[in-house]
Amino acid sequence: MRRTVIAIRTPSARAAALMVAVCLSAAGLFAQTVVKPPKNRYTPQQDVQLGREAAAEVRKQYPIIKDERITRYLTRLGNRLVAAAPPDLKEAVYEYSFTPVNLKEINAFALPGGPMFVQRGMFDAAANEAEVAGVMAHELSHVLLRHGTANATKAQNPWLQLGALAGAVGGAVVGGQAGAAIAQGSQFGLGTFLLKYSREFEKQADLLGAQIMAGAGHNPRALAHMFESIEAASKSSGGSGPQWLSSHPNPGNRTEYINKEANLLTVASAADTGEFGSIKTEFASLPPAKSTADLARAEPAGAAAPSAGTPGQPVPRPSSQYRDISGGKVFTASVPANWTSLASKSVIKAVPQNGYGQINGQTVFTHGVEFGISKAASRDLREATNAWLNAVAENNPELRLAGTQQATRMSGRSALATSLVNPSPLGGRERIAVYTTFLADGTTLFYYLTIVPEKDADAFLETFQRVGESIRLTDAR
Ligand SMILES: [Zn+2]
Repeated sequence: MRRTVIAIRTPSARAAALMVAVCLSAAGLFAQTVVKPPKNRYTPQQDVQLGREAAAEVRKQYPIIKDERITRYLTRLGNRLVAAAPPDLKEAVYEYSFTPVNLKEINAFALPGGPMFVQRGMFDAAANEAEVAGVMAHELSHVLLRHGTANATKAQNPWLQLGALAGAVGGAVVGGQAGAAIAQGSQFGLGTFLLKYSREFEKQADLLGAQIMAGAGHNPRALAHMFESIEAASKSSGGSGPQWLSSHPNPGNRTEYINKEANLLTVASAADTGEFGSIKTEFASLPPAKSTADLARAEPAGAAAPSAGTPGQPVPRPSSQYRDISGGKVFTASVPANWTSLASKSVIKAVPQNGYGQINGQTVFTHGVEFGISKAASRDLREATNAWLNAVAENNPELRLAGTQQATRMSGRSALATSLVNPSPLGGRERIAVYTTFLADGTTLFYYLTIVPEKDADAFLETFQRVGESIRLTDAR
């Protein structure tokens, strides 16, 4: 496959070049719709980084199909689409990959920078090769138009930091309750952020997808037909279309505008590999497809989260050297230099070796600190804190208050300190301290949490205090 490598140009030069390309390919008569990437404050390199990290999570959690024929087939379809895509949208840094997944829902998704996953259910629902290629061209268009990071640009969520986003994708894709139990109360939907598109972005991906299909030799009308099949499947009882539709909402008149675009396009000479039927047979020879629900059940909560060693093994003393960490636009803090930062959803942890990981299939967090944000249930700090703690306690039924809550300060703001005890997963009890304050918007709770088994508490006390004092809230006031 030949891939055009384009040096990065200024946005205006890129737009001009895109216009030229569009006019040339439409032979100057009936111009196809010009689809321009939306505003984006991230670099293509950041797309790649984010997609690479998130894809690694997906590969860990998903039943990836290793069948060589199927993989080769999808890669061949994908590479043809990439070759037919507008050169100016193909950043040289992108890393395209096309991975089949043994899940029965009609779904496919692509991560920023290129990694694409096609679920078996999508393949089963397709009537022919062009329909599979259509869904892939639509997904590729999200990559090329950089819709994931454009979402992040639009939202201006103060928490958005690349590390946190990558973790968010890993968790979101599985759709389960990822994150250590103590963090459960703090999730507020960052998860699906990169993979849920607006109707406007959907229409862009449909139109560019139709153009790419035509360039690769597939009839773009197959894309419209595939969407109709998905909608029909979602309406039939027990249908499995909604998963796709919830992240790729129908902008309205989908069939109509795709067919209208198709009228403006010249389909390149037929690309059909003639292998569709035999690949279907190959799929049928695989172990039965799982459902996403099976997957979420099979995975213990937090399986998505990275680990920092093996809990129960000796935990080294905190270093007296510190390093800085930051949580997007929300805060900066200093943590011991020998601790690892783990970002997931709306939470960032800093943990010593063996302070976070899996024991007997359960993810546990035994030593370290956590910073997080949560939608406040009240404008009163004590009420908001207690509502959040109640949510945390739902997953930690033996969590108990230790003493009374105390007024304190965090980064110059009024804060509340809460001490708790809980059975430690390592045996005995663990001490948890939570410090809460409001972010400048008055509706988001920021918390700093420390956790340590009682037997190790003395060795960590000073470190927890020093980390707490280093917190600087940097959200705009
Ligand atoms: Zn889409």
